[in-house]
Amino acid sequence: MSEAVVASHLRENPYELAKSQLRKVGDVFSIDANLIRVLSQCKKAVEVSIPVAMDDGSVEVFAGYRVTHNIARGPSKGGIRYHPDVTLDEVKSLSMWMTWKCALMALPFGGAKGGVVCDPKSLSASELERMTRRYTSEIINDIGPERDIPAPDVGTDGRVMAWIFDTYSMNKGHSVLGVVTGKPLSIGGSLGREEATARGSLYCIQALSVKEGKRVSDYTVSIQGFGNVGAHLARLLHGEGATVVAVSDSRGGVYNPMGIDIPAALAHKQEAGTLTGLANADPVTNEELVELECDIFAPCALEQVVTEENADRVKATIVCEGANGPVTPAADAILEDRGVLVLPDVLANAGGVIVSYFEWVQGLQEYFWREDEVNAKLHDIVGRAFEETWQTRASRDTTMRMAAYGIAVQRVAEATTTRGLYP
Ligand code: GLU
Repeated sequence: MSEAVVASHLRENPYELAKSQLRKVGDVFSIDANLIRVLSQCKKAVEVSIPVAMDDGSVEVFAGYRVTHNIARGPSKGGIRYHPDVTLDEVKSLSMWMTWKCALMALPFGGAKGGVVCDPKSLSASELERMTRRYTSEIINDIGPERDIPAPDVGTDGRVMAWIFDTYSMNKGHSVLGVVTGKPLSIGGSLGREEATARGSLYCIQALSVKEGKRVSDYTVSIQGFGNVGAHLARLLHGEGATVVAVSDSRGGVYNPMGIDIPAALAHKQEAGTLTGLANADPVTNEELVELECDIFAPCALEQVVTEENADRVKATIVCEGANGPVTPAADAILEDRGVLVLPDVLANAGGVIVSYFEWVQGLQEYFWREDEVNAKLHDIVGRAFEETWQTRASRDTTMRMAAYGIAVQRVAEATTTRGLYP
């Protein structure tokens, strides 16, 4: 989000939306109402205050959260978000979606998420480091390789993960590789992790193209968001011969119906820090980008970009959710009526947490894999989940979202029932 934007991107309470999705899954898949009640709530939510000495000598106090939604299938897993609009309910919704994502991918993890209310772009590197280290210290008893394993999300990256890893390890007295994923390669990260979320989206689009009797190179695509997910997805799709007609970052985007030169866009972003001003492309706003003429619209930034207000103007026939929660339930219903196929977040952006799982396993074993092994295993898992979702969609005559969430919630419900309610 640019500094100029004052209104939050969250028009509706995301936790209420996530709970309403869960209730619908409960109805469609006839899941015990007692279990739905249990799964509607987060197991644990920690709220901390993070005092930070700023470079100018003042002290700023940031609010931080770490929420575990569920651990029935394993330790909780999920990213940490640094963004000015972070709220506790947003973190709760994101943690619930992590539970479903890990279950759909059959990973031995539950769901969690963390967040700090801040604008990371306005902090210096040393302020960011002090904030991250203090936040880590405040949640140090809540995280750990067998307990809860953070990772990057919006506004955080490998550098932030390195500080979390170091702070945790310094407190334990030895390096604990499994405490966090998305680490730089030099300190136990996994090959392929950085581009994994986008690669998982690409594999979903490839699988769908086979179902449609097409090739990836037949599609025109517009991509919102040019961070870790959007930029890599643009690069990968361009590499597969798709025509990427529009890309954007938080300040706005660029459009060319004949196709954007993606290597040039990546270089321009690197140099200028923005996509604005890219040659051979017209400016486009983030709002306009949602409604552009194309086959695939891939929202890869924040939640609630397709709402009941604009869903009927989406021209794409496929929406690929690189972000978490970019389509609201009301918009989902409109897109379904209009025959737009939505590849839901828990399927389309699961590549990140899948390779996070690989990184965690490699760290625990202190044995590291080749990049082609990582990508092949990622392909297996995404391909299997896509096929299961596709089959369930057909057999239940429902949407890809309901099918994906249904498979996931049933798995978590089964684990909960099998374990039994304690005490
Ligand atoms: N933040 C990413 C997500 O929403 C990755 C989470 C992880 O790797 O644990 O899926």
